[in-house]
Amino acid sequence: MKRKDFLKIGLGTLGAATIASSCVPEDNQGYTESNGAPNVISNRKYRWKLVTTWPPKFPVLGEIADLYAKWINEMSGGRIEIKVYGGGEFVPALEAFDAVSSGSADIGCGGPYYWVGKSPAAQFFASVPFGMNAQQSAAWLISGGGMELWREVYAKFNLVPFLGGNTGVQMGGWFNREINSIDDYKGLKMRMPGMAGKVIEKAGAAAMLTPGSEIYTNLERGVIDATEWVGPYHDYKMGFHKIAKYYYYPGWHEPGTNLEFFVNKKLYDSLPTDLQTIMDAASLKAHSWVLGEFEAKNGSYLEKILAESDVQLKAFPKEVLSKLREYTKETIEEAIANDPLSKKVYTSYNNFAKQSQKWSILTEKAFYNTVQPD
Ligand code: CA
Repeated sequence: MKRKDFLKIGLGTLGAATIASSCVPEDNQGYTESNGAPNVISNRKYRWKLVTTWPPKFPVLGEIADLYAKWINEMSGGRIEIKVYGGGEFVPALEAFDAVSSGSADIGCGGPYYWVGKSPAAQFFASVPFGMNAQQSAAWLISGGGMELWREVYAKFNLVPFLGGNTGVQMGGWFNREINSIDDYKGLKMRMPGMAGKVIEKAGAAAMLTPGSEIYTNLERGVIDATEWVGPYHDYKMGFHKIAKYYYYPGWHEPGTNLEFFVNKKLYDSLPTDLQTIMDAASLKAHSWVLGEFEAKNGSYLEKILAESDVQLKAFPKEVLSKLREYTKETIEEAIANDPLSKKVYTSYNNFAKQSQKWSILTEKAFYNTVQPD
């Protein structure tokens, strides 16, 4: 959508709402939601562009963009039609943020850590090494003040963020060299983006930012010795079990990565309340679907990987994890030192995490210790 058209829609909506609200019966006039938008249903039709950072039809992550568009269309009784573009189809994958910010697209779908170059604080809404899992970070965002901070960070870019899925605890990655001590990271070339890339560099590794489409070839040819990705379901589709010897766990670097939708803020603010609520509801439905999809399929795909290949499943040694945890603390300190907004977001994240983790030790962890699958 061109910026001019977008402004026209925004102004048009406000105009329509003003006229309609003056027509509602006297006893209904006080019925407005907290954002002040009158809850008046009009037949106005919206046609939006949704740009994703994923290849078209990418399993789970691309599928959810299509489902989200379908659900919003159904919930709005056809008033909103969303056309979904995979990465590179309307704009290059990593230009989705700018495209929605400027209004050339209306909605984006990606992962908050992609935008660390825009605002370093964004990464804390995705995942933090040794940080919170899917359940804990959703609690922080939904009920612990996290979402207000996320909205504050994105508002500067004329965007409104929404939860759009979580991967659950990821796997530690695919290795062609064993990790028996922290020294085994020395000289290891591993695909590891984001903050965790800096962590393994402290251990002497070379963190590579290999794009998803090139990982398989690079691992096969020895350009990299190891890679992280997601978990058994998605990793199986990438085929890593055919070319790697060891599959390590746990994914200390991404204990539960949130995915996102982001909507042009001027557009969102111009919507009538019912459509805003539909968008809020569609994001939570999408969030649940993505987490459910990963959790439902990871177990069976792990069995498939082990049955169809010679891959050895291995746990990172305790000493390695505790050293990586130390390096993580240093990395976070460095990340927040020069950016007050990152410091503010991380302080909220960390305070919530500390309390939540104490509770989880008595509940989730204690319960998991009793679990014994037959
Ligand atoms: Ca990952």
